[in-house]
Amino acid sequence: MKSPMRILISGSSIAGPALAYWLHRYGFDVTIVELAPALRKGGFGVDVRGAAVEVLRQMGVLEQVRAADTHMTGVYFVNGNGKVEGRLSEAGMGNRQDVDIEIMRDDLTGILYDLTQDAVRYIWNDSITGIRDTEEGAEVRFDRSEPQTFDLVIGADGLHSNVRTLTFGAEEQFKQTLGCFISIFTLDNYLNLDHRELLHSVPGKTVGMKSARSSAEAKGMFLFTPESMVFSRRDTGMQKELVADAFRHETGWETQRLLQAMHEADDFYFDEICQIRMPSWSKGRVALVGDAAYCPSPLSGQGTSLAIVGAFVLAGELKLANGDYAAAFAAYERHMRAFVEQNQKIGRMAAGGMIERSRFKIRLRNAMLRLPFVMSAMFRMMMRMIAKAANGIELKAYGDEPV
Ligand SMILES: Cc1cc2nc3c(=O)[nH]c(=O)nc-3n(C[C@H](O)[C@H](O)[C@H](O)COP(=O)(O)OP(=O)(O)OC[C@H]3O[C@@H](n4cnc5c(N)ncnc54)[C@H](O)[C@@H]3O)c2cc1C
Repeated sequence: MKSPMRILISGSSIAGPALAYWLHRYGFDVTIVELAPALRKGGFGVDVRGAAVEVLRQMGVLEQVRAADTHMTGVYFVNGNGKVEGRLSEAGMGNRQDVDIEIMRDDLTGILYDLTQDAVRYIWNDSITGIRDTEEGAEVRFDRSEPQTFDLVIGADGLHSNVRTLTFGAEEQFKQTLGCFISIFTLDNYLNLDHRELLHSVPGKTVGMKSARSSAEAKGMFLFTPESMVFSRRDTGMQKELVADAFRHETGWETQRLLQAMHEADDFYFDEICQIRMPSWSKGRVALVGDAAYCPSPLSGQGTSLAIVGAFVLAGELKLANGDYAAAFAAYERHMRAFVEQNQKIGRMAAGGMIERSRFKIRLRNAMLRLPFVMSAMFRMMMRMIAKAANGIELKAYGDEPV
């Protein structure tokens, strides 16, 4: 009996463990290396829609994921005094009860980790420093662990993928900026929000607070368009100062209290809102999945679904190809590309709606949200578009027998 293909995955968030699950189910030998010392906490809610819901069903975790649904009731736009000026129901944002799911990001990563922890080798607190593609395999060097040879290396290491940089070169070639930055952090639910999200916009900036998981905990958010901004991805202190600078003179609503809470948060997340667009997602023995290959931006609400479906398709094509990984990578791209492009389009549209550039546009948006007929027409249009994109792929039946 031939020994199973050895596959190394970089990144343990959504795409990494989802891919590991399917590869293990098909009989591959899987290792995951994650930069963080343990599963990373943090993030807002993420959406699972359309084809991704079906993939979770086939993974046997759909009911568990549904049970963790945030059950948000709506997003409320408030003015500087906290008065509600417009409302968007969750259904209008594409979350249809019992069809699409919104779950806190770290609840989902916890479920996927639990599903794979006994089947997959996890290496924490480490990172790949070099990949040499040879006839025999991919020779991988690590920051801390001893070098090892694998048959394949898959980058599931997110927007700033290390595997992508090592294999395809600098991020700038593939990054399409959408012009804003986001910060998310946990704080006490001192406003007693009950499955609600409040947003306050001033030109070029939005600040928000949301509570879903329990009454004691909330998430704060700052979204803004900088004049120009250079920051170090590893320097959290510097990133907090950049957010504070952007909102220092904004005294409306809860802005200053949220800034204080951000400074005290230990799960502060900060990143640029952008997309990754690449002409190809594989090279030799290396391929990319999830945000590493085709990040649609957090504002699209589609990144998690793309990662789950991408993991399913990549693993399935590797199974079908029976060792011919080049054929599998090509089939993965063929099957996924149009689906990815459709979902990235939503990311580009959403970026425009979350940050308004002038007071007039903010007032216009809020006024429109108060008109029931405008709202329901907008909802229907948005829902149709999101549902079409989220279902824009036909999932193959890859079968269950191992390779
Ligand atoms: C902390 C955090 C908070 C987030 N919050 C939100 C949110 O609120 N809303 C939203 O829509 N999206 C959020 N995202 C992004 C969202 O998770 C993804 O868009 C989507 O789920 C696709 O997941 P992914 O697994 O491809 O990438 P990601 O979720 O970005 O995961 C990438 C993983 O790779 C790891 N990694 C990075 N570099 C290396 C390396 N050198 N070696 C090994 N591992 C590495 C990271 O630590 C992370 O665990 C967040 C991501 C993170 C990491």
